[in-house]
Amino acid sequence: MRIFKFKSELQVYLNQLREIQTIGFVPTMGSLHQGHVALIDSAKSYSDIVVCSIFVNPKQFDSSQDFDKYPRSLSQDISLLNNINCDILYCPDESDIYSSSERADEFDLNGLDRYMEGKYRKNHFQGVATVVKKLFQLVAPHFAFFGEKDLQQLQIIKHITRQLDSGIKIMGVPTVRDDSGLAISSRNKRLNALELEKAKLLYQSLLYIRKNFTKKTVILLKEEIELNFRKQSELKLEYLEIVDIQNLQPIDIFLEKDRNAVCIAASISGVRLIDNIIF
Ligand code: AMP
Repeated sequence: MRIFKFKSELQVYLNQLREIQTIGFVPTMGSLHQGHVALIDSAKSYSDIVVCSIFVNPKQFDSSQDFDKYPRSLSQDISLLNNINCDILYCPDESDIYSSSERADEFDLNGLDRYMEGKYRKNHFQGVATVVKKLFQLVAPHFAFFGEKDLQQLQIIKHITRQLDSGIKIMGVPTVRDDSGLAISSRNKRLNALELEKAKLLYQSLLYIRKNFTKKTVILLKEEIELNFRKQSELKLEYLEIVDIQNLQPIDIFLEKDRNAVCIAASISGVRLIDNIIF
């Protein structure tokens, strides 16, 4: 695998390849796990060359404490990427991405950031969109791969890619789960066995709603899940939203098949987990 720390060198290298080969791009913040591996595998199946980036983007964190606490494991990540035959890694320092006083851009996100992560993490998606735009301009891939686990992020990236008119095809990759159904995340490592057991309630709640959406109302299903969470003192439900997948606005009545998404965020012992399913 070729490793680049500087965009100038990466650009020269990619420009030689671009003429004859298709490029698939997988942006990450590192601390790689099986979810990221699924994105790289998917990128390999669509493109000749796979570029992965690892950059913990300060502009998408609401506090510098959170940013500092974010897990970093570059040498382990490099071994993993080598093992799965990733072709190129771009792992810049902040100064290669942002100038010293640079602020996040202001994108028109058309209300896609009004609820859920956008509501609870102010300016998060402006920060995500800012870095993704820069990375897209640099790598100029044919395809870019994002996890459905971060559904709101995926829809926002699709939206800004249309706005930028870059021709990049955005590919959503299904959520990778562990045997218990818990969506894999680098944060899961911070949970002990009992907490992992409790965390199953997130996915179970999503499955319950999917199973019952033709029999019960949106309001009733939300109430049932909220009640289940109130009975579990260790788990704190942050939000449970049932939304139209196209505009990410909450709905009162279920839509036709594959237009509904239920999104959940909850914390357990201070570890924040998110998940969703589409039905
Ligand atoms: P991150 O490094 O957390 O910014 O994530 C990088 C990419 O990996 C994003 O597109 C995420 O949606 C995706 N991702 C993270 N966890 C999973 C998972 N369990 N399954 C599928 N994709 C994932």
